[in-house]
Amino acid sequence: MKIGIIGLGLIGGSLGFDLKALNEHRIIGVSRRGSTCERAIQRGAVDEAYTDLGAIASADLIFICTPIGSIIPTLQQLTPQLPPTTIVTDVGSVKASIVYAAEQLWPNFVGGHPMAGTAENGIEAALKDLFVDRAYVITPTQATPPESVSILATIARSLKSNVHICSPENHDRAVAWISHLPVMVSASLISACLTESSENALTLAQTLASSGFRDTSRVGGGNPELGVMMARYNRDEVVRSLKTYQAELNTLTQLIEAENWPELEKRLQQTQQARPHFLQ
Ligand code: NAP
Repeated sequence: MKIGIIGLGLIGGSLGFDLKALNEHRIIGVSRRGSTCERAIQRGAVDEAYTDLGAIASADLIFICTPIGSIIPTLQQLTPQLPPTTIVTDVGSVKASIVYAAEQLWPNFVGGHPMAGTAENGIEAALKDLFVDRAYVITPTQATPPESVSILATIARSLKSNVHICSPENHDRAVAWISHLPVMVSASLISACLTESSENALTLAQTLASSGFRDTSRVGGGNPELGVMMARYNRDEVVRSLKTYQAELNTLTQLIEAENWPELEKRLQQTQQARPHFLQ
C-alpha cells in the first residue's frame, strides 16, 4: 500500500517508523518545513518526504498528523487533489469536532486516535514501537464507509495496537475523564503549589518533591499547545468533567474541615478499589 503521512512530528514520525518497518508499504511524508522532511528521511521514518501536499495525491491511505487546529484546513487543501478511493484518516486527540467537519469535506474519511505519546514533540521525538500494546480508537459515524474502517483497523493492528471502535461522542466523553481532565488537574496542582507565599516553604517543597509529585504533575507539565487544543476542541466534555471534579474536591474539603474521618476513609477505600478498573 502507498501510505501518506502529513505532519512529521512525534506521532507522524513514529507512525512512519513502524509502518516502514513492516516492509509492506511505501511511506511518503509531507511536512511544513523542508528541514523536517530531510530529518524524517535521515531518521528512516519515511521513504520520501516533501513540503507539497500534491506529493501524496496517489497514496491509498493518508494519515493527517498535524496539530488539531490544522487538521481540517489541511484536509480542505488536500481533497481537490485526491481520487474518491483514497482513505483519509487523522490522529487527533479529539474526535467529534474533527470527524463531522471532515466527513463533509471527504466522504471516505475515518476518524482515529492512537492513544500513545510522550511529553516531547517534533520529528526528533518520534519513537519506534510507540503504538505497541496501546489503544487505537477508530470513530466511524453512520456515514463512514465500513470497508475503510476495516482497512484502518487492519493497519492499526499491524502496529500491534489494540483497536477500539466507538462513536466520536463516546470517545470525547471518555477521553475527557482519563486524558483531558488529568491535564487540567495536574496543571492546577503545579500552579497551586506556585501560589505558596513563603519562599522558604516553596524552595523546600521543590527540593523534597519526589515520585508522588513526579507522577501527579507529569501530564500538567507537557506541551501547552496540546492542552489548549484538547480544551478548545472538546470544550463541553472538558468543562463537564472539571465541574464534577470541582464538586468532588469540595466534598473532600468539607469532610476534612468537619473532621469526618470515617466518611473520608470510606471514600478513599472506594477510590482505592476503583483505580485498577481504569488501568487494566
Ligand atoms: P508534533 O510533534 O508537534 O507534530 C506535528 C508536526 O506537524 C510538526 O512537527 C510540524 O512539522 C507538522 N505540521 C504542523 N502544521 C503543519 C501543516 N499545516 N502541514 C503539514 N505539517 C504540519 O505534534 P504531535 O504530538 O505529533 O501531535 C500531532 C497530532 O497527534 C495532534 O493532532 C494530536 O492531537 C495527536 N496526538 C498527539 C499525542 C501526543 O501525546 N503528543 C497522542 C495522540 C495523538 P514541521 O516541523 O514541518 O513544522
